[in-house]
Amino acid sequence: MDDRSFDILILGAGPAGISAALTAHARGRSAAVLGSDPMASTLAKAERIGNYPGLAGMSGRDLLAAMLGDLQRQGIPRVTGRATAVMAFDGRFMVSVERDVYEAKALILAAGAQQSAKPFPGEAELLGRGVSYCATCDGMLYRGKRVAVLGLGPGSEADREFLQSIGCQVLYFTGAQAKNVEIQGTDKVTGLSVNGEKYAVDGVFVLRAAVAASVLLPGLAMEDGHLDVGPDMATSLPGVFAAGDCTGKPYQIARAVGQGNMAALAADRYVKEHEG
Ligand SMILES: Cc1cc2nc3c(=O)[nH]c(=O)nc-3n(C[C@H](O)[C@H](O)[C@H](O)COP(=O)(O)OP(=O)(O)OC[C@H]3O[C@@H](n4cnc5c(N)ncnc54)[C@H](O)[C@@H]3O)c2cc1C
Repeated sequence: MDDRSFDILILGAGPAGISAALTAHARGRSAAVLGSDPMASTLAKAERIGNYPGLAGMSGRDLLAAMLGDLQRQGIPRVTGRATAVMAFDGRFMVSVERDVYEAKALILAAGAQQSAKPFPGEAELLGRGVSYCATCDGMLYRGKRVAVLGLGPGSEADREFLQSIGCQVLYFTGAQAKNVEIQGTDKVTGLSVNGEKYAVDGVFVLRAAVAASVLLPGLAMEDGHLDVGPDMATSLPGVFAAGDCTGKPYQIARAVGQGNMAALAADRYVKEHEG
């Protein structure tokens, strides 16, 4: 096993993902947690936690730091970066994080509620054919061409500068400007419509803090904008489990932690059943 190959990969470094990783590790599985930023979890926004037993009003940031510390103490690897694509192939899952690819036998999605942001019309259909989630990975393909950057998450400005520096002609829309977006094209991206204005472009970089799980893994069943899971946290795709806010309300730490634990136990059973 190399350092990018695991039994279980966990997408999301919030309470659900961290809990899943600790349980997977306790079951003797190799596991890694992928997360966009150590403090990107919704939990970091909570000023004071009043409803989680034993915490006596601790701040969300302190609780998150303590949870991340648990990962470190157990030697569980954490990969910082945005997952931009997932591929299922021959019983394994390949997850792209920026330019690196990590693989595992089972996948746990713990990407939080923000992942349920609906993709723009044309986004999923034209992904990889003009739509990109990663300027560093795909920028060179658009050298000398006209691209649009939809800056919907932190770090978008740096990505715009990077694309300009390699010779792309960049149209930049911030989150506030990027309303009524529609990505156009049949076989590949040919244009973009923003608030009724049409622009001819060869590529569109959709830079959200998180990429919707339904876009990362087409075919996942959804219900009311959340991942549809069974009682053991299994999604509609074999080998893929989900936990936390991405599976629905109430958005609470206790629920996220409990579901992370259940998802890891189910993923452990799945890996065992499929071990050759
Ligand atoms: C202001 C505020 C106060 C709150 N107060 C409380 C409270 O007092 N008590 C309580 O129980 N709950 C509270 N909550 C809710 C609680 O924070 C959430 O229920 C909990 O954090 C959910 O955990 P999670 O692991 O499911 O998702 P999150 O904590 O949102 O973590 C998801 C992680 O996945 C990452 N991610 C998503 N997509 C990708 C991708 N494509 N690539 C890489 N990483 C990705 C995100 O960046 C994030 O790190 C509060 C929430 C807010 C906003």
